[in-house]
Amino acid sequence: TKDDVKGFFTRNAFVILTVAAVIIGIILGFALRPYNMSYREIKFFSFPGELLMRMLQMLVLPLLVSSLITGIAALDSRASGKMGIRAVVYYTTTTIIAVFIGIVMVLIIHPGKGSKDEFSKQQQIEQVSAADAFLDLIRYTFMHSDQTSFKTQYAKRVVHVTMTINDTLVAPNSSQQIEEMIPVPGSVNGINALGLVVFSICFGLIIGNMREQGQPLRDFFDCLNEAIMRLVAIIMWYAPIGILFLIAGKIVEMDDISAMGGQLGMYTVTVICGLLIHAIFVLPTLYFVITRKNPFVFISGLLQALITALGTSSSSATLPITFKCLEENNKVDKRVTRFVLPVGATINMDGTALYEALAAIFIAQVNDYQLNFGQILTISITATAASIGAAGIPQAGLVTMVIVLTSVGLPTDDITLIIAVDWFLDRLRTTTNVLGDSIGAGIVEHLSRHELQNTDPEVGNSVVEE
Ligand code: ASP
Repeated sequence: TKDDVKGFFTRNAFVILTVAAVIIGIILGFALRPYNMSYREIKFFSFPGELLMRMLQMLVLPLLVSSLITGIAALDSRASGKMGIRAVVYYTTTTIIAVFIGIVMVLIIHPGKGSKDEFSKQQQIEQVSAADAFLDLIRYTFMHSDQTSFKTQYAKRVVHVTMTINDTLVAPNSSQQIEEMIPVPGSVNGINALGLVVFSICFGLIIGNMREQGQPLRDFFDCLNEAIMRLVAIIMWYAPIGILFLIAGKIVEMDDISAMGGQLGMYTVTVICGLLIHAIFVLPTLYFVITRKNPFVFISGLLQALITALGTSSSSATLPITFKCLEENNKVDKRVTRFVLPVGATINMDGTALYEALAAIFIAQVNDYQLNFGQILTISITATAASIGAAGIPQAGLVTMVIVLTSVGLPTDDITLIIAVDWFLDRLRTTTNVLGDSIGAGIVEHLSRHELQNTDPEVGNSVVEE
């Protein structure tokens, strides 16, 4: 009936709007491509999307700190210890599986077949036209990263690229001013999220153990967390508009796809297949085996977070939306999400791990460099480390890939070979990262149901004395 239809739309308003935003964004992007907008025009056009990025990033720091502190303080130390171990076991297992899938895919499909000369010739043309992608990379990673070796190595190329598109660096003034009204704390954008996580865990453990004396602080962070979540609820109404322009802007901006034949095309397909296997098969299966619940119902509740990840290519910017989806749609216990999600967004990146191992082996293939078993093992270990070290910001994985390449003596310069498609693959691996964190929260909640029952959700002290 009419009421049913209306009810359906109001219940699923966010998801419908977000999906519509993606579709309109894609159509608009392709419709505007023939107009060959200048970089400056594209920046203006993507402005509403840039605003969303900043709004979300603005919330990450207070959200991460307040949720971790309250999440941990709400559990007794035994419960949080157990939950922590479960989360870490989940993160490690899924990351190792992801790396394994990446390696198997790239060895089976072997996208790096063919001569390198031809590949780099094709790439040289693309490298100049991929200047925009490069600029993104500079903006998001170099400024915040302390990988100096990478910085100097690429400085020369960067100068070259910057010269060819000189005016692109001159950001439109008025839009910049508006953007800066939305403050983005640098530390969350960069590598130091990990430091914040460690601090918040320690702090949460301490005030959790302080009994009555700690109550004001627990209340304070609880209240802070609640206030932030209310802000998130407001921003969610803006999210579809932002996502629409983020996607349309990127489509207008991207290189000609037809130039992407040969090895690079095969490489892209290989990465997509690997990520799909992990996201659509491995993670849901794991969820089903452990919880006996339908994983796709769970995933459908996450749709908005997944699309935001696709739009922003940043798992930390997506974090506020991930919280909302898990707590409101999937009804995951807040004590679990608050504890597990911030940590997951910082260190658990299945998509990035899969991608880094796969890309490193691809670069070896392109160079006709035979890897022995030991080297492949080294790649899998360093890819895991590199995914933990990567910040949840756009294209961070490209920077930490230096670790993987140097560990087996591959030329780090060859990262430029894959830069042209990285903006796209980054979006897909970020979505996989967010899915991994969310399914992790569902699994940890299921495994921790006894501890959760025995802990009073309000006071946070153990109810059952043992
Ligand atoms: N952009 C990814 C993320 O935020 C990290 C990466 O570059 O792989 O999860």
